Amino acid sequence: MKILVINSGSSSLKFQVIDSETEAVLVRGVCERIGIDGGFTYKTENISVKEQAPLADHKAAVNKILTTLTDAKMGVLKSFEEIDVVGHRLVHGGEKFTGSVVITDEVIQAMTECNDLAPLHNPANLVGVDACRQLMPETLMVGVFDTAFNQTMEPKAFLYGLPYRFYEKYKIRRYGFHGISHKYVSARAAQFMRQDPKRVKTIVCHLGNGSSICAVKYGKVIDNSMGFTPLEGLVMGTRSGDVDPGALEFLATKENLDIHQIMTILNQESGVLGISKNLSSDFRELKDAGIKYNEKASLAREIFAYKVAKYIGSYAAAMNGVDNIVFTAGVGENDSDIREEICEYLEFLGIAIDEVKNREQAEAIRISDGTSRVNVLVIRTNEELEIARQAAAVAAQIKKA
Ligand code: ADP
Repeated sequence: MKILVINSGSSSLKFQVIDSETEAVLVRGVCERIGIDGGFTYKTENISVKEQAPLADHKAAVNKILTTLTDAKMGVLKSFEEIDVVGHRLVHGGEKFTGSVVITDEVIQAMTECNDLAPLHNPANLVGVDACRQLMPETLMVGVFDTAFNQTMEPKAFLYGLPYRFYEKYKIRRYGFHGISHKYVSARAAQFMRQDPKRVKTIVCHLGNGSSICAVKYGKVIDNSMGFTPLEGLVMGTRSGDVDPGALEFLATKENLDIHQIMTILNQESGVLGISKNLSSDFRELKDAGIKYNEKASLAREIFAYKVAKYIGSYAAAMNGVDNIVFTAGVGENDSDIREEICEYLEFLGIAIDEVKNREQAEAIRISDGTSRVNVLVIRTNEELEIARQAAAVAAQIKKA
Protein backbone atom coordinates (compact mmCIF):
# COMPACT_ATOMS: atom_id res chain seq x y z
CA MET A 1 0.00 0.00 0.00
CA LYS A 2 1.07 3.59 -0.60
CA ILE A 3 0.38 5.86 2.32
CA LEU A 4 0.44 9.64 2.19
CA VAL A 5 1.32 10.86 5.68
CA ILE A 6 0.21 14.39 6.52
CA ASN A 7 1.26 16.43 9.54
CA SER A 8 -0.65 19.68 9.29
CA GLY A 9 0.23 22.66 11.45
CA SER A 10 -1.12 26.20 11.41
CA SER A 11 1.22 27.48 8.71
CA SER A 12 3.06 24.36 7.58
CA LEU A 13 2.19 20.94 6.24
CA LYS A 14 4.75 18.14 6.31
CA PHE A 15 4.23 15.11 4.11
CA GLN A 16 5.74 11.77 3.18
CA VAL A 17 4.70 8.97 0.87
CA ILE A 18 5.60 5.62 2.37
CA ASP A 19 5.32 2.18 0.84
CA SER A 20 3.83 0.15 3.68
CA GLU A 21 5.23 -3.17 2.45
CA THR A 22 8.88 -2.11 2.24
CA GLU A 23 8.52 0.86 4.64
CA ALA A 24 10.56 2.86 2.11
CA VAL A 25 10.00 6.61 1.99
CA LEU A 26 9.26 7.48 -1.64
CA VAL A 27 9.01 11.22 -1.06
CA ARG A 28 9.29 13.57 1.85
CA GLY A 29 8.67 17.29 1.94
CA VAL A 30 7.06 20.27 3.53
CA CYS A 31 4.83 23.17 2.53
CA GLU A 32 5.83 26.11 4.68
CA ARG A 33 4.64 29.62 5.40
CA ILE A 34 1.16 28.76 4.12
CA GLY A 35 -0.90 31.93 3.75
CA ILE A 36 2.30 34.02 4.03
CA ASP A 37 4.92 33.90 1.27
CA GLY A 38 4.89 30.10 0.78
CA GLY A 39 7.75 27.60 0.56
CA PHE A 40 7.92 24.08 -0.84
CA THR A 41 10.50 21.37 -0.23
CA TYR A 42 10.31 18.02 -2.00
CA LYS A 43 12.82 15.19 -1.86
CA THR A 44 12.89 11.78 -3.51
CA GLU A 45 15.84 9.45 -3.92
CA ASN A 46 17.00 11.41 -6.98
CA ILE A 47 15.32 14.79 -6.75
CA SER A 48 15.68 17.57 -4.24
CA VAL A 49 13.65 20.73 -4.77
CA LYS A 50 13.37 23.77 -2.55
CA GLU A 51 11.40 26.66 -3.94
CA GLN A 52 9.29 29.60 -3.04
CA ALA A 53 5.72 28.85 -4.08
CA PRO A 54 2.68 30.91 -3.24
CA LEU A 55 0.40 28.75 -1.07
CA ALA A 56 -2.75 30.70 -0.28
CA ASP A 57 -4.13 28.11 2.14
CA HIS A 58 -3.90 24.44 3.14
CA LYS A 59 -5.97 23.36 0.15
CA ALA A 60 -3.44 25.05 -2.15
CA ALA A 61 -0.67 23.25 -0.23
CA VAL A 62 -2.28 19.81 -0.64
CA ASN A 63 -2.94 20.61 -4.29
CA LYS A 64 0.73 21.47 -4.75
CA ILE A 65 1.73 18.17 -3.15
CA LEU A 66 -0.64 16.11 -5.32
CA THR A 67 0.40 17.85 -8.52
CA THR A 68 4.07 17.36 -7.77
CA LEU A 69 3.57 13.71 -6.76
CA THR A 70 2.02 13.04 -10.17
CA ASP A 71 4.23 15.39 -12.20
CA ALA A 72 5.80 13.80 -15.29
CA LYS A 73 9.34 14.80 -14.27
CA MET A 74 9.30 14.95 -10.49
CA GLY A 75 6.47 12.63 -9.59
CA VAL A 76 6.61 9.18 -8.06
CA LEU A 77 2.98 8.33 -8.87
CA LYS A 78 1.08 8.10 -12.13
CA SER A 79 -2.07 9.36 -10.52
CA PHE A 80 -2.98 10.24 -6.97
CA GLU A 81 -5.45 7.36 -7.01
CA GLU A 82 -2.37 5.22 -6.34
CA ILE A 83 -2.49 6.54 -2.79
CA ASP A 84 -4.37 3.89 -0.82
CA VAL A 85 -4.69 5.81 2.43
CA VAL A 86 -3.90 9.21 3.85
CA GLY A 87 -2.66 9.02 7.45
CA HIS A 88 -3.18 12.27 9.37
CA ARG A 89 -1.34 13.15 12.52
CA LEU A 90 -3.91 14.47 14.96
CA VAL A 91 -2.73 15.93 18.23
CA HIS A 92 -5.59 15.68 20.71
CA GLY A 93 -8.26 13.02 20.72
CA GLY A 94 -9.34 13.62 24.34
CA GLU A 95 -10.79 10.51 25.95
CA LYS A 96 -12.77 9.71 22.82
CA PHE A 97 -9.98 8.15 20.80
CA THR A 98 -7.88 5.30 22.10
CA GLY A 99 -6.55 4.24 18.72
CA SER A 100 -6.40 5.34 15.11
CA VAL A 101 -9.69 5.79 13.27
CA VAL A 102 -11.19 6.22 9.84
CA ILE A 103 -11.96 9.92 9.50
CA THR A 104 -15.68 10.42 8.99
CA ASP A 105 -17.94 13.40 9.55
CA GLU A 106 -18.66 12.03 13.04
CA VAL A 107 -14.95 11.81 13.84
CA ILE A 108 -14.44 15.37 12.67
CA GLN A 109 -17.31 16.46 14.85
CA ALA A 110 -15.84 14.61 17.86
CA MET A 111 -12.42 16.12 17.17
CA THR A 112 -13.84 19.58 16.88
CA GLU A 113 -15.24 19.03 20.36
CA CYS A 114 -11.64 18.44 21.50
CA ASN A 115 -10.47 21.75 20.00
CA ASP A 116 -10.70 23.46 23.36
CA LEU A 117 -8.19 20.97 24.71
CA ALA A 118 -5.58 21.79 22.05
CA PRO A 119 -6.51 25.15 20.53
CA LEU A 120 -3.15 25.60 18.78
CA HIS A 121 -2.94 22.14 17.26
CA ASN A 122 -6.33 20.53 16.62
CA PRO A 123 -7.87 23.22 14.39
CA ALA A 124 -4.64 23.27 12.32
CA ASN A 125 -4.76 19.47 11.98
CA LEU A 126 -8.37 19.64 10.88
CA VAL A 127 -7.66 22.20 8.19
CA GLY A 128 -5.23 19.69 6.66
CA VAL A 129 -7.82 16.91 6.89
CA ASP A 130 -10.42 19.10 5.27
CA ALA A 131 -8.11 20.06 2.39
CA CYS A 132 -7.31 16.40 1.69
CA ARG A 133 -10.95 15.35 1.86
CA GLN A 134 -11.90 18.03 -0.63
CA LEU A 135 -9.19 17.14 -3.10
CA MET A 136 -9.29 13.35 -2.66
CA PRO A 137 -12.90 12.61 -1.77
CA GLU A 138 -12.62 8.92 -2.67
CA THR A 139 -9.47 8.21 -0.67
CA LEU A 140 -9.56 6.61 2.77
CA MET A 141 -8.42 9.01 5.51
CA VAL A 142 -7.14 7.70 8.82
CA GLY A 143 -6.50 9.80 11.91
CA VAL A 144 -3.61 8.86 14.20
CA PHE A 145 -3.71 10.64 17.54
CA ASP A 146 -0.79 11.78 19.66
CA THR A 147 -2.85 11.19 22.79
CA ALA A 148 -4.20 7.73 21.90
CA PHE A 149 -1.24 5.60 23.03
CA ASN A 150 -1.35 7.34 26.42
CA GLN A 151 -5.00 6.45 26.95
CA THR A 152 -4.05 3.30 28.87
CA MET A 153 -3.02 5.43 31.86
CA GLU A 154 -5.03 4.61 34.97
CA PRO A 155 -6.96 7.22 36.97
CA LYS A 156 -4.25 7.20 39.66
CA ALA A 157 -1.83 8.49 37.00
CA PHE A 158 -4.11 10.74 35.01
CA LEU A 159 -6.17 12.51 37.67
CA TYR A 160 -5.00 15.76 39.24
CA GLY A 161 -5.59 16.49 42.90
CA LEU A 162 -8.45 18.80 41.92
CA PRO A 163 -12.12 18.47 42.84
CA TYR A 164 -13.41 15.42 40.95
CA ARG A 165 -16.29 17.40 39.51
CA PHE A 166 -13.90 19.25 37.17
CA TYR A 167 -12.92 15.97 35.62
CA GLU A 168 -16.58 15.02 35.26
CA LYS A 169 -17.60 18.38 33.90
CA TYR A 170 -14.65 19.38 31.72
CA LYS A 171 -12.49 16.25 31.45
CA ILE A 172 -9.63 18.04 33.15
CA ARG A 173 -7.03 15.32 33.54
CA ARG A 174 -3.59 14.39 32.30
CA TYR A 175 -3.58 13.16 28.69
CA GLY A 176 0.11 12.89 27.86
CA PHE A 177 1.52 13.67 24.41
CA HIS A 178 4.11 12.49 21.88
CA GLY A 179 2.24 9.17 21.88
CA ILE A 180 3.08 8.38 18.26
CA SER A 181 6.79 8.75 18.99
CA HIS A 182 6.63 6.89 22.31
CA LYS A 183 4.79 4.01 20.68
CA TYR A 184 7.25 3.73 17.80
CA VAL A 185 10.35 4.07 19.96
CA SER A 186 9.28 1.70 22.74
CA ALA A 187 8.37 -0.97 20.16
CA ARG A 188 11.60 -0.42 18.21
CA ALA A 189 13.61 -0.76 21.44
CA ALA A 190 12.06 -4.14 22.20
CA GLN A 191 12.60 -5.27 18.61
CA PHE A 192 16.23 -4.07 18.67
CA MET A 193 16.89 -5.86 21.97
CA ARG A 194 14.97 -8.96 20.80
CA GLN A 195 12.63 -8.70 23.76
CA ASP A 196 8.96 -9.58 24.01
CA PRO A 197 7.31 -6.13 24.24
CA LYS A 198 4.65 -7.65 26.52
CA ARG A 199 7.31 -8.48 29.13
CA VAL A 200 9.43 -5.37 29.22
CA LYS A 201 9.42 -2.10 31.12
CA THR A 202 10.66 0.84 29.08
CA ILE A 203 11.12 4.53 29.79
CA VAL A 204 11.19 6.62 26.62
CA CYS A 205 12.76 10.08 26.86
CA HIS A 206 11.55 12.14 23.89
CA LEU A 207 13.82 15.15 24.27
CA GLY A 208 13.46 17.88 21.65
CA ASN A 209 12.09 21.40 21.65
CA GLY A 210 9.08 19.93 23.35
CA SER A 211 10.03 17.06 25.65
CA SER A 212 8.19 14.29 27.42
CA ILE A 213 9.00 11.09 29.22
CA CYS A 214 6.80 8.05 29.03
CA ALA A 215 6.65 4.89 31.12
CA VAL A 216 5.63 1.90 29.01
CA LYS A 217 4.99 -1.31 30.92
CA TYR A 218 4.30 -4.49 28.98
CA GLY A 219 3.39 -2.47 25.87
CA LYS A 220 1.02 -0.07 27.63
CA VAL A 221 1.59 3.49 28.78
CA ILE A 222 1.27 3.86 32.50
CA ASP A 223 2.48 7.44 32.78
CA ASN A 224 3.59 10.40 30.69
CA SER A 225 5.20 13.60 31.93
CA MET A 226 2.96 15.87 29.85
CA GLY A 227 -0.47 16.54 31.23
CA PHE A 228 -3.70 18.30 30.32
CA THR A 229 -1.59 20.25 27.82
CA PRO A 230 1.97 19.78 26.56
CA LEU A 231 3.10 22.37 29.12
CA GLU A 232 3.44 20.03 32.09
CA GLY A 233 6.52 18.04 32.99
CA LEU A 234 10.08 18.72 31.93
CA VAL A 235 11.71 22.09 31.44
CA MET A 236 11.62 22.46 27.63
CA GLY A 237 12.95 24.81 24.93
CA THR A 238 10.56 27.64 25.78
CA ARG A 239 8.02 25.89 28.04
CA SER A 240 8.36 25.96 31.81
CA GLY A 241 7.18 22.44 32.62
CA ASP A 242 5.98 21.90 36.22
CA VAL A 243 5.60 25.11 38.26
CA ASP A 244 3.83 25.65 41.56
CA PRO A 245 0.56 27.42 40.62
CA GLY A 246 1.06 29.49 43.77
CA ALA A 247 4.08 31.13 42.14
CA LEU A 248 1.88 32.15 39.22
CA GLU A 249 -0.64 33.91 41.43
CA PHE A 250 2.25 35.69 43.15
CA LEU A 251 3.71 36.73 39.78
CA ALA A 252 0.36 37.86 38.41
CA THR A 253 -0.16 40.10 41.44
CA LYS A 254 3.35 41.54 41.48
CA GLU A 255 3.51 42.24 37.73
CA ASN A 256 -0.18 42.94 37.19
CA LEU A 257 -0.57 40.20 34.58
CA ASP A 258 -3.72 38.46 33.42
CA ILE A 259 -3.96 34.69 32.84
CA HIS A 260 -3.23 35.02 29.09
CA GLN A 261 -0.04 36.93 29.76
CA ILE A 262 0.98 34.33 32.33
CA MET A 263 0.32 31.53 29.81
CA THR A 264 2.42 33.31 27.18
CA ILE A 265 5.30 33.50 29.66
CA LEU A 266 4.93 29.80 30.54
CA ASN A 267 4.69 28.62 26.92
CA GLN A 268 6.98 30.97 25.06
CA GLU A 269 9.38 32.73 27.40
CA SER A 270 10.31 30.04 29.87
CA GLY A 271 12.21 26.75 29.77
CA VAL A 272 15.89 26.81 28.89
CA LEU A 273 15.27 30.04 26.93
CA GLY A 274 14.05 31.81 30.05
CA ILE A 275 16.65 30.31 32.38
CA SER A 276 19.46 31.28 30.01
CA LYS A 277 18.19 34.88 30.11
CA ASN A 278 16.87 34.67 26.53
CA LEU A 279 20.13 33.40 25.12
CA SER A 280 18.54 30.49 23.25
CA SER A 281 15.91 27.76 23.34
CA ASP A 282 18.22 25.62 21.24
CA PHE A 283 20.19 23.03 23.20
CA ARG A 284 23.09 23.05 20.77
CA GLU A 285 23.50 26.80 21.04
CA LEU A 286 23.36 26.55 24.82
CA LYS A 287 26.06 23.90 24.76
CA ASP A 288 28.31 26.13 22.63
CA ALA A 289 27.66 29.10 24.93
CA GLY A 290 28.38 26.93 28.00
CA ILE A 291 31.74 25.93 26.57
CA LYS A 292 32.53 29.66 26.44
CA TYR A 293 31.66 29.86 30.16
CA ASN A 294 28.16 31.29 29.87
CA GLU A 295 26.93 30.34 33.33
CA LYS A 296 23.19 30.60 32.66
CA ALA A 297 23.47 28.50 29.50
CA SER A 298 25.16 25.74 31.49
CA LEU A 299 22.65 26.11 34.32
CA ALA A 300 19.74 25.72 31.88
CA ARG A 301 21.16 22.43 30.58
CA GLU A 302 21.94 21.28 34.10
CA ILE A 303 18.36 21.91 35.25
CA PHE A 304 17.05 20.07 32.20
CA ALA A 305 19.24 17.00 32.80
CA TYR A 306 18.39 16.94 36.52
CA LYS A 307 14.68 17.02 35.81
CA VAL A 308 14.91 14.27 33.19
CA ALA A 309 16.77 12.09 35.70
CA LYS A 310 14.14 12.75 38.37
CA TYR A 311 11.33 11.69 36.02
CA ILE A 312 13.23 8.55 35.04
CA GLY A 313 13.69 7.72 38.74
CA SER A 314 10.02 8.23 39.49
CA TYR A 315 8.92 6.14 36.50
CA ALA A 316 11.26 3.34 37.51
CA ALA A 317 9.41 3.40 40.85
CA ALA A 318 6.00 3.61 39.15
CA MET A 319 6.78 0.47 37.13
CA ASN A 320 8.63 -1.23 39.99
CA GLY A 321 11.69 -1.54 37.77
CA VAL A 322 12.92 -0.68 34.31
CA ASP A 323 14.59 -2.76 31.57
CA ASN A 324 15.18 -0.14 28.87
CA ILE A 325 15.76 3.59 28.97
CA VAL A 326 15.59 5.08 25.49
CA PHE A 327 16.66 8.51 24.31
CA THR A 328 15.05 9.97 21.20
CA ALA A 329 14.23 13.24 19.28
CA GLY A 330 16.59 16.14 18.50
CA VAL A 331 18.33 16.41 21.88
CA GLY A 332 17.93 12.77 22.93
CA GLU A 333 19.38 11.45 19.66
CA ASN A 334 22.22 13.93 19.25
CA ASP A 335 23.36 15.35 22.55
CA SER A 336 25.72 12.76 24.03
CA ASP A 337 26.79 15.15 26.83
CA ILE A 338 23.24 15.51 28.11
CA ARG A 339 22.74 11.73 27.95
CA GLU A 340 25.90 11.19 29.96
CA GLU A 341 24.90 13.80 32.51
CA ILE A 342 21.44 12.24 32.93
CA CYS A 343 22.86 8.74 33.29
CA GLU A 344 25.28 9.84 36.02
CA TYR A 345 22.25 10.36 38.28
CA LEU A 346 21.09 6.83 37.52
CA GLU A 347 24.02 4.81 38.82
CA PHE A 348 21.75 3.66 41.66
CA LEU A 349 19.76 1.72 39.03
CA GLY A 350 22.96 -0.09 38.06
CA ILE A 351 23.33 1.93 34.89
CA ALA A 352 26.75 2.17 33.28
CA ILE A 353 27.36 3.95 29.98
CA ASP A 354 29.93 2.98 27.37
CA GLU A 355 31.48 6.38 26.62
CA VAL A 356 32.62 5.38 23.14
CA LYS A 357 29.25 3.96 22.12
CA ASN A 358 27.54 7.03 23.55
CA ARG A 359 29.35 9.16 20.96
CA GLU A 360 28.42 6.97 17.98
CA GLN A 361 25.49 7.78 15.66
CA ALA A 362 23.06 5.13 14.47
CA GLU A 363 19.39 4.57 13.81
CA ALA A 364 19.39 2.40 16.93
CA ILE A 365 22.27 1.74 19.32
CA ARG A 366 22.79 0.44 22.85
CA ILE A 367 25.00 2.87 24.75
CA SER A 368 25.07 1.05 28.09
CA ASP A 369 28.00 -1.28 28.69
CA GLY A 370 27.95 -5.02 29.38
CA THR A 371 27.76 -4.54 33.17
CA SER A 372 24.74 -2.23 33.11
CA ARG A 373 21.62 -3.64 34.77
CA VAL A 374 19.40 -1.51 32.51
CA ASN A 375 19.77 -1.20 28.73
CA VAL A 376 20.27 2.40 27.71
CA LEU A 377 19.49 2.96 24.04
CA VAL A 378 19.41 5.77 21.52
CA ILE A 379 16.77 5.29 18.84
CA ARG A 380 15.81 7.68 16.08
CA THR A 381 12.14 8.39 16.30
CA ASN A 382 10.06 8.00 13.15
CA GLU A 383 6.59 9.36 13.71
CA GLU A 384 5.73 9.33 10.00
CA LEU A 385 6.46 5.63 9.74
CA GLU A 386 4.36 4.95 12.82
CA ILE A 387 1.47 6.92 11.29
CA ALA A 388 1.88 5.00 8.02
CA ARG A 389 1.87 1.68 9.88
CA GLN A 390 -1.26 2.54 11.82
CA ALA A 391 -3.02 3.90 8.72
CA ALA A 392 -2.10 0.75 6.77
CA ALA A 393 -3.39 -1.44 9.61
CA VAL A 394 -6.75 0.37 9.63
CA ALA A 395 -6.98 0.11 5.83
CA ALA A 396 -6.14 -3.61 5.94
CA GLN A 397 -8.90 -4.20 8.52
CA ILE A 398 -11.41 -2.42 6.33
CA LYS A 399 -10.41 -4.48 3.30
CA LYS A 400 -10.87 -7.67 5.33
CA ALA A 401 -14.31 -6.70 6.61
P1 ADP B 1 10.80 19.44 17.93
O1 ADP B 1 10.22 19.29 19.30
O2 ADP B 1 10.64 20.82 17.35
O3 ADP B 1 10.43 18.33 16.96
P2 ADP B 1 13.47 18.34 17.71
O4 ADP B 1 13.15 16.96 18.15
O5 ADP B 1 13.81 18.56 16.28
O6 ADP B 1 12.36 19.36 18.17
O7 ADP B 1 14.68 18.85 18.61
C1 ADP B 1 15.23 20.14 18.47
C2 ADP B 1 16.35 20.30 19.49
O8 ADP B 1 17.37 19.31 19.22
C3 ADP B 1 17.04 21.66 19.44
O9 ADP B 1 17.17 22.18 20.74
C4 ADP B 1 18.42 21.32 18.88
O10 ADP B 1 19.42 22.15 19.37
C5 ADP B 1 18.63 19.92 19.39
N1 ADP B 1 19.68 19.28 18.60
C6 ADP B 1 19.63 18.90 17.31
N2 ADP B 1 20.83 18.40 16.92
C7 ADP B 1 21.66 18.48 18.00
C8 ADP B 1 23.02 18.13 18.27
N3 ADP B 1 23.79 17.61 17.32
N4 ADP B 1 23.50 18.35 19.52
C9 ADP B 1 22.73 18.87 20.47
N5 ADP B 1 21.44 19.23 20.30
C10 ADP B 1 20.91 19.04 19.08
